[in-house]
Amino acid sequence: MIPRENISMPYDPSDPTARDTALQPSEQRRLEEANFLLENNKPAQAAPIFAKLAEVLRSAHQPKRAANLHSQAALAFARSRNDSALMQARAALTLLLQFKLDQQASAFYKDLLGELTKRGMNSAAETLAKEFGGKLARPAPRAAQWNRLPSNCHNCGAPLGQSGVTWTEAESAECGFCGTPIRPSAE
Ligand SMILES: [Zn+2]
Repeated sequence: MIPRENISMPYDPSDPTARDTALQPSEQRRLEEANFLLENNKPAQAAPIFAKLAEVLRSAHQPKRAANLHSQAALAFARSRNDSALMQARAALTLLLQFKLDQQASAFYKDLLGELTKRGMNSAAETLAKEFGGKLARPAPRAAQWNRLPSNCHNCGAPLGQSGVTWTEAESAECGFCGTPIRPSAE
């Protein structure tokens, strides 16, 4: 597999091979809007946008990015006490585990359980734990690298928490939402 930084061609929407490098411009705007709503404490409005974009990316055969958007939808639904959080979480975790992104799956699972518990959504938390608790490895965060990442993606504004970043190599990460390479700052 070729590392993404070696194929930094400008995005051309008419080129089907370029699809993995960026969202379509209209989708990119929706993503920015959803991140903005989330930052401004409007998770109920952001959640359905993330869920819809996840479906779009899934149909566009970008399952890893779809998984990140399902994760974000699940967290946003949980923050607005909406039971759709569970459905989105199932979609996210199933995809993450399918692609062996165990560390990311564990980090997301932990974030979501915390959020569900905090919002009093205990039955959703229990259901999730029953379905996925046994399948997830213990997270081993790369603390040194995480600490050197910016808090938000400079391209789409997504928060780059542990479930928002995809590590492509030991020292190379990309935004899990729009695919922009994220460089850790120097030591
Ligand atoms: Zn981004």
